[in-house]
Order: sequence, then C-alpha cells, then structure tokens
Amino acid sequence: MPPACAADPVSMDGTFPLRPAQSISDLVADGLVRADEAPVLERVAQDFRLRLTPQMRAASARSDGVARQFVPSAAELIQRPEDLPDPIGDDAHAPVPGLTHRYPDRVILHVTKTCEVYCRFCFRRETVGDTGHLPPDQLQAALDYIARTPAIHEVILTGGDPLVLSARRIGDLVARLAAIPHVGVLRLHTRVPVVAPDRITPALIDALRQHPSVWIVVHTNHADELTAEARAALTRLADAGIPLLSQSVLLRGVNDSADALEDLFRALIRLRVKPYYLHHCDLARGAGHFRTTIAEGQAIMSALRGRLSGTALPSYVLDIPGGFGKVPIGPGYVTAQARGWSVTDPNGHQHHYSDPER
Ligand SMILES: *Cc1c(COP(=O)(O)O)cnc(C)c1O
Ligand code: SF4
Repeated sequence: MPPACAADPVSMDGTFPLRPAQSISDLVADGLVRADEAPVLERVAQDFRLRLTPQMRAASARSDGVARQFVPSAAELIQRPEDLPDPIGDDAHAPVPGLTHRYPDRVILHVTKTCEVYCRFCFRRETVGDTGHLPPDQLQAALDYIARTPAIHEVILTGGDPLVLSARRIGDLVARLAAIPHVGVLRLHTRVPVVAPDRITPALIDALRQHPSVWIVVHTNHADELTAEARAALTRLADAGIPLLSQSVLLRGVNDSADALEDLFRALIRLRVKPYYLHHCDLARGAGHFRTTIAEGQAIMSALRGRLSGTALPSYVLDIPGGFGKVPIGPGYVTAQARGWSVTDPNGHQHHYSDPER
C-alpha cells in the first residue's frame, strides 16, 4: 500500500492527513480503493454516505480490519431477503420524534443523525447522515415527554453520534436533563473518542460533568482503531471520573475471531473501558457480507471465556428484529436435567449440579 494519504497535507508528525475522506476519489488517492473499482463504488456512496475522519483514514491505510468498516464495497449493492429498513425497530417505539422508548426505565434520545464516520454496517444506515440535529422544538417535546414520565430513570443520547454536537450544545442539553430529578443516569453512545479523539476537549468534559452520573459507551470494533490519540482521549475521560463501557459489533472479515476480539478487549480493559456488549450484526440493508452466524459468534465467545478475565468479557447480544428487545444469545452453559442441571465448564466438560430439595 502507498504511504497513508500521500496526496493530502498531513499532521506535524506525519501520521495522519488533516482532512476527512468524503469521496471515492479521496480513497483512490489513499490507495484504499483501486481506480477501476471507483465507478461501482460511486453508486454505493450515493446510497450510503461516506466519511472517514483523518485518524480513521490513516488507520485504514495501515489495517484491513479498520478499512473494511469504512471503505465502501460493491457487496453493499446486494440486498438479501432478510434485510430490513429499520432492523432494530426504533420507529416502532417512538412516542415523539427523536425518542425511542422500548423499555420502561430508559429512553434513547436521537439528538442528531450526523456521525464523524459512516460505518458500512450501520444498523441505522437508512437514517444516519440525513439532516443534522434534532430541531429545537422536537428536542423540547422529547424533554417534555421525559419530564412527565417518572418511570424513566436513564436517558441514552445517541444518533448518529451525540458527540458531534459542540461542547456548548452538549452542555445545554446535559444541564436540561440534569434538571429533571427522576433522570438518575445519563448515558452517551458514541464512536467519537475513538474515531475523532480531538473532540474530547476539557470544555466537552466540563459540559458532560454537569450531570452527576454520566456514563459513556464507546463503539469500537478493532484494536487497530485504538490509535495513540484515541487512547489518550479515553484516558482523559477515565481520568475525569467518567465510567467507560464499550460496545462492538461482530463483523465478518473485521473481528470474527477469538484472537481479534481478545486483542480488542484486552486493549480496552487496559484503558479502563469495560467491554459491555458484543452485538450480533443487525439485518441492515446491504450489510449481509458482514454477518456471521450465531453459532460462529457463540464459538468465539466460548473460546474467549477461558482465555480472558471476566472483566474483559462482554455479553453477546441480539437485538431481535422488529423491535422486540436485546437479549443475550449465549453460548449457554446449563441444560435442565431430570434432577438438577448439566453445566459445561470452559473446557467443554459436563458436570452435574443439583438444586436444593424443595
Ligand atoms: C439497546 C437499547 C437500549 C439500551 O439497552 P441496555 O441493555 O440498557 O444497554 C435502550 N433502548 C433501546 C430502544 C435499545 O435498543
Ligand atoms: S458511528 Fe454509529 S450511528 Fe454512526 S454510522 Fe457508525 S454505527 Fe452508525
């Protein structure tokens, strides 16, 4: 591969270009796409937006595991019978625009449809990248709904990516949520600390800390995404006392091996990020080439169980298509027997367990 982004001005230390990649010709210049592939990929990019931050542009030039997540592929033009326009059923549970209320105690607030990068497997790919931020009147209506629904204990900011908003706007939103007494926890789902680490500024951290219990769930799928800048950004957040979790998507050709996930989860736990969820890949349109089978995912999780400490193991979950919720999908370690249970140990051996007599 040619040196990263030879055509563009690069940072002082020469490690990344100063501009995001937003067109197929940028990717041709970076050596991430061949010139003869460009015409078909232009069609893909018309359907689903393309954007790589400077950091991910450079990381893609170094790592296929990163590049496959962001560089369009002709396989995206293939629609499979199981593909769905709203794979996780966001729309089925929207009491007001911009809000998803599926579980009684928590809501998802979609503050923007914009992201710093566009992932080729995104489960919200039909909506991300459309028009910018939730308009002020809709945001007000969403906050009013939260304020008049005392069962809501937690508000999850997502998008798109909530951290594309300016520190000032985030500060305003966090302060308004902090003023609602029953909102005990504020959670942000974001890819920004990894893909656009320069956005994690002291001003942003101050803005977040206006709520006493802010948790950040970082979306990251491959250890090669965790550049020196990303590691520094995660460290700034952890040092500020913000609890960090991660969510990853199991992706064929990116991280569908015990070795790749071991590297990722070990790197995260060292950075004080607790791996939370490993998502089975959703049924987004044109993303079938990224999907593994559930049996493959379970085999990877069983291999990791003996290898990694419990703190580094996420739960492997499926968002049941149609909006029926997220559930752990194994592997299972117990099966019911006539008297008690058969339990499988990390080496695959079976043991009998007896319940107390009742
Ligand atoms: C994933 C999800 C949540 C958060 O679920 P947790 O299991 O608490 O992380 C909340 N609402 C919706 C609609 C979701 O899809
Ligand atoms: S950052 Fe998240 S919401 Fe945005 S494209 Fe990637 S997966 Fe989708």
